[in-house]
Amino acid sequence: MTSPELEAQLRSVSLRVTRPRLAVLASVHAHPHADTDALIASVRAEVGSVSHQAVYDVLRVLTDAGLVRRIQPAGATARYEARVGDNHHHLVCRSCGAITDVDCSVHRAPCLTASDDHGYVVDEAEVVYWGTCPGCAAAPTNQPVPTGRNADE
Ligand SMILES: [Zn+2]
Ligand SMILES: [Zn+2]
Ligand SMILES: [Zn+2]
Repeated sequence: MTSPELEAQLRSVSLRVTRPRLAVLASVHAHPHADTDALIASVRAEVGSVSHQAVYDVLRVLTDAGLVRRIQPAGATARYEARVGDNHHHLVCRSCGAITDVDCSVHRAPCLTASDDHGYVVDEAEVVYWGTCPGCAAAPTNQPVPTGRNADE
């Protein structure tokens, strides 16, 4: 994404273009599924000193505006990505925490039908595929990190 494209994204949701917003948005585009610490480091490399709070605030604004999607698999820190609006899901490795995008076969939420919606207007089914990534599956000595879920021996 070039700077003019990022500026256009901000303007498309009526956000004023500022250097921190551009830098954070560029970092999220460049580092899909990065956590806040990684994004702060990336933004600092781009614009110099910027406070944690400033980056948190910008991430919140961008997420609220729909330019950035926040995901938080159980037991993991919050991650951010710029791939929004397609209801894609994530494969998460229980062992190393790797996160990989996987297309939703339906492409829009909710992609699962509740057996009984009890009168709720359902707009999303949260889908996370948990398992072992190819790298960890191939590693002979690797022990899964406990995640609070049952890890079969
Ligand atoms: Zn793994
Ligand atoms: Zn994703
Ligand atoms: Zn789906």
